[in-house]
Amino acid sequence: MEVRKIGVVGAGQMGSGIAQVAAQAGYEVVLRDLEEGYLERALTSIRRSMGKLLEKGRLDQETHDAALARISTTLHLSDLGDCDLVVEAIVEHEPAKLELFRELDGLVKPGAILASNTSSIPITRLAAGTRRPERFIGMHFMNPVPLMELVEVIRGHLTDDETAQTVLRVARRMGKTPVEVNDYPGFVSNRVLLPMINEAIQCVMEGVATPEAIDQVMKLGMNHPMGPLALADLIGLDTCLSIMEVLHRGLGDKYRPSPLLRRMVEAGLLGRKSGRGFYRYDEKGNRI
Ligand code: NAD
Repeated sequence: MEVRKIGVVGAGQMGSGIAQVAAQAGYEVVLRDLEEGYLERALTSIRRSMGKLLEKGRLDQETHDAALARISTTLHLSDLGDCDLVVEAIVEHEPAKLELFRELDGLVKPGAILASNTSSIPITRLAAGTRRPERFIGMHFMNPVPLMELVEVIRGHLTDDETAQTVLRVARRMGKTPVEVNDYPGFVSNRVLLPMINEAIQCVMEGVATPEAIDQVMKLGMNHPMGPLALADLIGLDTCLSIMEVLHRGLGDKYRPSPLLRRMVEAGLLGRKSGRGFYRYDEKGNRI
């Protein structure tokens, strides 16, 4: 199946990145969110990110201009009706995703593929809420999308081969390396990553060391490019908590979310996107 037009639902940090790489790969893109302000913020971040790639010589002016022109935005889901592939990147909340996919299923054409960028929610369960489980798949991009090479591709129980092959092709055309993994809670990336982040948060709570010291230990000692607490701030503490809850429910007690993580989310300290998490950030997301 040939994909020409891609819909992206949710214009947060992941959705805006997915729209950007899709447009850079030559696809027509329609990006949908709930408020005009969110769409404007997404376009600003896409322009900033593409501007940096242009400065560094990783994009030429013509590709830059053409890619920007290929992105349109909308508040109306019905504008995604003629898309060949829709990638969902809304909040990590199962009832919200199920409701969205139910609506999408009713308005996109019969052969169109529905994909979720969920970090942890079982693809089979999301697919079962639609009448096209064979055309449903997980397409898990990494943050920040324009820079990270991996896309985890997760088939649900009923996903057909053509859907998987199409999505693998699309990911490669976006310049990514897709890796197929099976449909278990947190897939591979977050099942391995999030317990480490959760343990780093537990170290803060128990007073083992300051956030700066914990991040320095992991950067200098384990050669991680970024410490786990800075990474938690980048991912979003609300998203980290949602993923830990899925792991906890699906895999047992050793994945229990840290009480400090829960408390910070309740306090509205969500990391970079809210201006404060383990560190503080200015409105461009730079650490203060
Ligand atoms: P975010 O909070 O930055 O953005 C979510 C956006 O979705 C918001 O702009 C919100 O207004 C919008 N939204 C909510 N309901 C909507 C609806 N019905 N229709 C359209 N828009 C809607 O979140 P994010 O970090 O971009 O995460 C999005 C998804 O990607 C989540 O499922 C998350 O688990 C997954 N993910 C996140 C990361 C990460 O590092 N943050 C990495 C990989 C995958």
